[in-house]
Amino acid sequence: MADSISPVRKQYLEIKRQHPDAIVFFRLGDFYETFDQDAETAARELEIVLTSRNVAKGVRVPMAGIPHHAAESYLAKLISRGFHVAICEQVGETPVDGLFPREVVRVVTPGTVLEPGLIPGVHNNFLAAAVSGPDGQGFAFVDITTGEFFAAQATEAAAHGFVRHELARVSPSELLVPEEASLESEWSGHITVLPVWKFDPARAEEKLKEHFGVRTLDGFGLGGLTHAIGAAGAILDYLQATQPVALALLSGLSAYGPSDFMALDSATRRNLELSETLRTGEVQGSLMGVLDATMTPMGRRMLRQWMGKPLLDRDRIETRLDQVQSFFDDGLWRAEVRQAMKRLSDLERLTNRVASGLAGPRDLVHLRDSLEQIGGVRNLVDGKDPALDSVVSEIDPCPPVSDLVRKAIVEVPPATLAQPGVIRPGFSQELDQMVDSTRQARDWIAGLEATERERTGIKSLKVGYNKVFGYYIEVTRAHADEVPEEYIRKQTLVNAERFITPEMKDVESKVVAAEERIRDLESEIYRRVCSDIGAHAPQMLRTARAVARLDAVSGLAEVAALRDYVRPEITEGVEMEIRDGRHPVVEGRAGAERFVPNDAVFEEGERIRILTGPNMAGKSTYLRQVALIVLLAQMGSFVPARSARIGLVDRIFTRIGAQDEIYAGQSTFMVEMVEAANILHNATGRSLLILDEIGRGTSTYDGLSIAWAMVEFIHNHPRLRSRTLFATHYHELTRLAEVLPGVRNYNVAVAEEGGRVVFLHRIIPGGADRSYGVHVAELAGLPRPVIHRAEEILSDLETEARTATPHRSEISQQLALFPQEDPLRAELEGLDLDGLSPLDALNKLFEWKSRFAGDDKRPADRQTPATPA
Ligand code: ADP
Ligand code: MG
Repeated sequence: MADSISPVRKQYLEIKRQHPDAIVFFRLGDFYETFDQDAETAARELEIVLTSRNVAKGVRVPMAGIPHHAAESYLAKLISRGFHVAICEQVGETPVDGLFPREVVRVVTPGTVLEPGLIPGVHNNFLAAAVSGPDGQGFAFVDITTGEFFAAQATEAAAHGFVRHELARVSPSELLVPEEASLESEWSGHITVLPVWKFDPARAEEKLKEHFGVRTLDGFGLGGLTHAIGAAGAILDYLQATQPVALALLSGLSAYGPSDFMALDSATRRNLELSETLRTGEVQGSLMGVLDATMTPMGRRMLRQWMGKPLLDRDRIETRLDQVQSFFDDGLWRAEVRQAMKRLSDLERLTNRVASGLAGPRDLVHLRDSLEQIGGVRNLVDGKDPALDSVVSEIDPCPPVSDLVRKAIVEVPPATLAQPGVIRPGFSQELDQMVDSTRQARDWIAGLEATERERTGIKSLKVGYNKVFGYYIEVTRAHADEVPEEYIRKQTLVNAERFITPEMKDVESKVVAAEERIRDLESEIYRRVCSDIGAHAPQMLRTARAVARLDAVSGLAEVAALRDYVRPEITEGVEMEIRDGRHPVVEGRAGAERFVPNDAVFEEGERIRILTGPNMAGKSTYLRQVALIVLLAQMGSFVPARSARIGLVDRIFTRIGAQDEIYAGQSTFMVEMVEAANILHNATGRSLLILDEIGRGTSTYDGLSIAWAMVEFIHNHPRLRSRTLFATHYHELTRLAEVLPGVRNYNVAVAEEGGRVVFLHRIIPGGADRSYGVHVAELAGLPRPVIHRAEEILSDLETEARTATPHRSEISQQLALFPQEDPLRAELEGLDLDGLSPLDALNKLFEWKSRFAGDDKRPADRQTPATPA
């Protein structure tokens, strides 16, 4: 039986054996064919016809194929659904034992696509790898279309959640993990599991050193970072197996530290609507939607990266701010530079397409045009401002590249090399001679119609061409008898006859053969040109990144100028002094009333700001605006405020309620508590906490108690004491300010005009006294009788509350833990800590413990049930 299997089937099975996890696209003529299980998958996913093929006598297997020239869109579909596709091509021109050799030239996976149609221009397409061990975690990621390759690790204590944060930040299309690493739970995106040994640091180090041609990885800042090396090595190994052409582009690897960038967990990224809105998932309405005034795809990607990883290093922030400033200060010049950048193509990706051999003739022309434009950009910026010198010095318009393209490629080349006429006359003598030699023959054919009409006297005689018989002479039926003897009849149509002549066929075969030779020669010359250009890839990539940077900073300057932003002052302290801050997105929202700016100025010692106020007053907007201003400042942007002085924030945490629609099916309260736990475990004294309506997802008293305890914890725990904004509808929380010195109350001003409530959106000191919920209900259009009845009930309830209901006194008892006239407190305040030895302190504690023992077990037992006013 096995003997009867056709040779091509054997070849297929051998290849499939090496790629069991991928769908194999097996090239047969003009088609990529899939077989067996793959064919069933392909037919289902791509909605193509499932047929079958004879592979041995009486044996048929399922088969489904797609035309090779249309492969890109089919590939896109399969990749987006999480499949890997192994592209198996015919290699070589000569059959061996009647069979063309075939091999898999690359495996396309979500993280390794190069086709421009398969990847969005606005983001990077990252392939990432992660490892996790008892002593740390490593993470690496690469964009093979732009050549950016990064690795980092966090060890021991710092490792907690490192990979998860990096995944949230980088958002790769594909993640490589070792078997049994239990990292799968960290990422819901596409995961490819590889054998553990592929991540082995020693092996990885050897591979990386070999690839980069270096003796040590210290130069990349990776010395000794075994986890980072393991992850980076796994990526390299994976690319070698799947996408070897991409390796040419990986010219460097940068290490970064987990402490280089502000940590933003995925909940915070979502809540702050950085690159897409919560509701619609669109860029429009997100921070990116406001901030992106870039002119080029590479500038846009850089801006996105900056927004995803605000800086922690003051000098680096100041450098960016200086660069934004220089564009901010000169609007005319800014417009000129931006105009000059407008027509630049995606230089980063073009370069990589050339280097990986995927560039078509038109790509080269775009590359040339862009490089020539870039010379103009550089001249405009050169010498303008010292802040930009380091960027300008990286820009190299690579004149040898544009010269070469100009000399070698015609001005408007065909889309692919399949058509002749890509190489410019004069570039290759050999090619020119070849073209010349066929000219005579081609001229002869071109003139044939005229000559034959004259010779035969048949006016309607035509010369045509089709794929089946090549050139032919067509004569209408009426004149068919008048043709000369040497005409050979080839085809009869309804109204016409088609003929050929031996001479014609002779010339034609000369032309066809020559054209084939010309095409081969053109391809050869083209490949040489591409490889010469590829040699400049590192300069071109550096140039692309420098231009991206100019684009990003000038775009930020444009936004700052148009929207009246101000340069923030960054300090190493824990200040928070935003004056007349605005929400960057809400302020510009079409149809909105005029936006009311608000301060966020923390006094000396102020840690926690509790914000009460009715629904729809603007609490959430205020909280988010503070977070966004901090984030903008640390990414190096100007900020929407009159002035801002901000002590570096290491992390922004947000817990923002009411996301029921996002977590449909999950317990909202559970989600809320998980996020709250994360904040309390990981926040530091440098963090900014944005807590909006904590405890809303549960019963009032549960919620209130949890909110209360959280504020106390943040206030008192030595690791936290974080700058915190806490919006709440629990008025009871305002009493915390009476007992915790770092807590301040604020509320949103409301005016009542003739029984109507007007929200002023102004944040003012003090706690809110009423919730105005009924007024909001009225605004929402609840029927009159319901509103009136609600007012009655509210009034009754309020009277009842004043005559101390049991739950009211519970709160009072909690407050009684910190009565103003507490003797212990008085003694504590009188204690001179500087003059106290550790032993004295311990003795003091023992004394208090014995004096007050038992008192603090149950609040109700306390002797001083003082109720604060
Ligand atoms: P809350 O959280 O107090 O319920 P929001 O922050 O959601 O209120 O704001 C409700 C609406 O009020 C927003 O959609 C916005 O249109 C408007 N708003 C909020 N803050 C301001 C402001 N400072 N100036 C003008 N309008 C504002
Ligand atoms: Mg709100």
